[in-house]
Amino acid sequence: MRLASYNGGRIGRVEGDEIVDLTSLVTGGEKPHRLTVSPMRTLITHWGELGQRAARADGSRLPLSDVVLGAPISDPTKILAAPVNYADHQAEMSVESHVSSLGLFLKSPSSLLGPSGVVRLPYSDRRFDQEGELALVIGRPADRITSDPLSYVFGYTGLLDITMRGGEDRSTRKSFATFTPMGPWIVTPDEFGDPEQTDVRCSVNGELRQSANTRDLIWGVAELVRYATWISPLLPGDVITTGTPAGVDQLLDGDRIVLSVTGLGGELVVSVSSEGAVTSHTTGKNRGPLPPPSTRTVSR
Ligand code: MN
Repeated sequence: MRLASYNGGRIGRVEGDEIVDLTSLVTGGEKPHRLTVSPMRTLITHWGELGQRAARADGSRLPLSDVVLGAPISDPTKILAAPVNYADHQAEMSVESHVSSLGLFLKSPSSLLGPSGVVRLPYSDRRFDQEGELALVIGRPADRITSDPLSYVFGYTGLLDITMRGGEDRSTRKSFATFTPMGPWIVTPDEFGDPEQTDVRCSVNGELRQSANTRDLIWGVAELVRYATWISPLLPGDVITTGTPAGVDQLLDGDRIVLSVTGLGGELVVSVSSEGAVTSHTTGKNRGPLPPPSTRTVSR
């Protein structure tokens, strides 16, 4: 099943080029925006009792082209992210360490952005890069698990881990508002295929920058889920993003990013704007791990 959030808090099942409204399954008649937990997080939390109904419900249908998709889940309690989890990305960053020594880091859930959103670059004097990644959404509580990690996964989606380069902590460099585009929707494991054998491709302005398969992850999806539960108890709706392959490069005003993940049946497309950018508040420029110099320059 493909599950999306749309039109400011509604949830639906994506079928072909239509979306079937499932919001009433979880709202109990309340307006979606009045709820303290998002409809998608509620649906995931109560999937055991609602899953069958979600599959069959025949609510009102709209063409996908007529709705505005949001991040599939707007309010995960946390987003855990793998820092260096492909050998080719480790090489391009010229760093010694990878996920097995670094562990995971946190991105702010307030940085989430929906498909067709605009990534807003906050600073005019810093470099920002795209990182295309496979992400997963947790389906049930998981605390210090030792077996069957994939059984805790509710579904899979695409995620762009937008990143400022420099010496600041990762949680700062990757948590600016709009720095976590996610989507276009969540695909449940029965439809997604093998998450350990998934193609991830990312293009900017039609030029392919990243192309990888998750079989090349240093820590694969199952290992990441198992490990994450030993950092912090995972709750339904929590997001884990698996890390990015080689090909990170600079984002500039007006860019269009397209992330394609096999098994999703749709792409995550966002644009980039530097409108309102100011000079950096911190002094981390030219520090920290540096990716290859970009041939692209800021035009202003
Ligand atoms: Mn990343």
